[in-house]
Amino acid sequence: MKRFAHRPLTYKKIILIFFLAIFLPSLIAGYLSLSTLPKRREAVVNLLESNLWVSGEAALTKVEDNLLEYEQQVLDPNRLMQLIPNADADQTQDNIVLFSEDPTGKSFLLDTDLNILFPETTGDTEPGTLLNEDIENSRFGQLMNGAENLEFSRKEYVRAVGLYRESASCAPSDSYRAIALEGLGRSLIHCNELEEAYAVYEDLSENYGHMLNKAGHPFGIVSVFQLYEISVRKQEIRDGIERLVALLKQIREGRWKINKPTYDFYSSEIHLILDEKFAANSFQELQNVYLDVKQQPSPYREELLFTEFIASQAIPEIRQRISLSVGNNGNMKDRFPLTRGEELSVISLHVLPDFYQGEDCFGGFCWDLKYLKELFIPGLFEETSKNTGLDLQLTDKAITAENTRVMNFRIFPLPWKIQVSHPQIVTVERAAKREIFLYGVLLAVIVMLMLFGAVMIVRDISRESETTRLKTEFVNNISHELKTPLTLIRLYGETLQRNKDLVQDERDDCYEIITKESERLSHLINNVLDFSRIDMGRKEFKFINGFLQDFISDTLESYRYHLEKKGFKIQSDIASDLPEMQFDGEAIASVFVNLLSNAMKFSPEKKEVGIRLFREKENAVLEVEDKGVGISEEELPKIFQRFYRSWQNIPESRGSGLGLTLVRHIAEAHGGRVEVKSEPGSGSIFSIILPLKNWEKT
Ligand code: ADP
Repeated sequence: MKRFAHRPLTYKKIILIFFLAIFLPSLIAGYLSLSTLPKRREAVVNLLESNLWVSGEAALTKVEDNLLEYEQQVLDPNRLMQLIPNADADQTQDNIVLFSEDPTGKSFLLDTDLNILFPETTGDTEPGTLLNEDIENSRFGQLMNGAENLEFSRKEYVRAVGLYRESASCAPSDSYRAIALEGLGRSLIHCNELEEAYAVYEDLSENYGHMLNKAGHPFGIVSVFQLYEISVRKQEIRDGIERLVALLKQIREGRWKINKPTYDFYSSEIHLILDEKFAANSFQELQNVYLDVKQQPSPYREELLFTEFIASQAIPEIRQRISLSVGNNGNMKDRFPLTRGEELSVISLHVLPDFYQGEDCFGGFCWDLKYLKELFIPGLFEETSKNTGLDLQLTDKAITAENTRVMNFRIFPLPWKIQVSHPQIVTVERAAKREIFLYGVLLAVIVMLMLFGAVMIVRDISRESETTRLKTEFVNNISHELKTPLTLIRLYGETLQRNKDLVQDERDDCYEIITKESERLSHLINNVLDFSRIDMGRKEFKFINGFLQDFISDTLESYRYHLEKKGFKIQSDIASDLPEMQFDGEAIASVFVNLLSNAMKFSPEKKEVGIRLFREKENAVLEVEDKGVGISEEELPKIFQRFYRSWQNIPESRGSGLGLTLVRHIAEAHGGRVEVKSEPGSGSIFSIILPLKNWEKT
């Protein structure tokens, strides 16, 4: 068994080389490149995340810096100073600053006692003029008292008219004259002096409009109501309606500094009158103007509401804050949130030292949060987003996503947070996952291909080594096979030569052995030569027409003696009706002899041989049957392989392992095939199936 020793060593070497030189390095390289992927991804994500912090911080600072700058502008003392109502200013001027049109928010101004200096919406409700004792005792005062007495108590309107007229002419100031004129107008209406009354109220409305009557209402408003009354009486209602529409417009625009109850009272009075009148009369043009006025937003009402908010919410809060920060008032800059109805407001408050009449005042700014959220801050974000590729948003809810950072406002108590996110982080994550998956699959495919390649190589090598093994065995075997008959021939030849006195029977035995061994030798050599021709592709067949049954019978006859001598019982059944066909006689004889020779070799005990030739459908079938050792199922596929041999323990089984290889090749060269049925211990049947179709002579 020496000759097989190299085989396991070869396998081991191959497997070792494969593992050490190819598989292991590839696996390590694959693993290393795979393991660096998550690290690379992490590095990129970290970079982007730190970018989130830096950019988020920058965006926050930018927003707050902008707000601070804006706050500095709107609360600049020089600007606020312009809002202070000028006591000496002509109250009749139309262009007083009532409200700001700044969308960012509204300014307000408080004096040192936290009274509202701006916006100045609330007019004085008390004229106070008649309370003055000096005036009361003056001629004007006495005339006025007399006139009012006649008007209100005695209802003597004609006399009252006279006294009022006198009072007006000696009034100490315009505001007293206006009061006297109002009385005059009233009394004239009672006297039905409508034309004159109309003129008086027109005068009051035009020249004394901003002055207040005794009830604290501007003459500009009350006179229009009286003018309307007169127009109704004069049945010139169109004029009255026109005046009321104009008055409504003026009130809504803030022409009159009145408080909110007064505003609401006069607005609803005008609506009541006009809605009724427009329903009854069709002054289409006027009605359109009226509807238009009603639809326009009322900036003055906004201002009134704002003032109300400052008075009711902001001032108490400011008072509390001041009391908490005693001693630090000088440069106090404060910012605080306040709820205003449903909404939230943020107030900025600056102390203005020595601002007005030598006293500290407070400048305030109420930020319009809606504007900040929808326009101001998104506008600031836009540039940062453009530069950094980040997504910046204001949010009410904090989101805790991996690619998002949330920053709180630090200086301004704004009710939102800045949410900074990087859309690329998600993309990077996704790409990394895909990459890992692809690399993993690639690695798996490479490993599988390597294993497949290795299996193929091992298979090839094992086939090669098997062939080599068989060849070596063949060489050993064939030398032995050649040597044995040669030795015998030589031995018996020499015996015949030397022993001249051998009896005839002994001589015959020697001749027979020499003949038998020569036959065996030529059979062997024929097989080897045939095989080598086939192996080299040089074997040529000579197909000649003939009857197979005749040929097989002749061959059998020439072997019959030999078989019977060996003790074999021969049973032959050769059909005579086979048609003439083409075959290579020498080759077919070789097939038959090989099969007979095997049947003899592998039947050590039950020496029976069956030979049958018959037609089966379109084939001629030659069967050689023996009752010998048989072939196991595992061996069956191997017996036709070149050099394959077994049963070497049977002394008669000498051979080359080429017989069946030749048989199959020859059968196939005739367009046929070989089949074998065998059972170990019971014997075998070899069938050569040759198609008649191709060879049959037509
Ligand atoms: P050889 O006969 O020279 O060994 P063959 O190619 O003719 O080579 O046969 C190959 C092998 O097939 C034999 O060694 C034997 O094991 C098996 N074999 C062939 N014919 C028979 C048979 N009639 N009975 C049992 N085994 C057989």
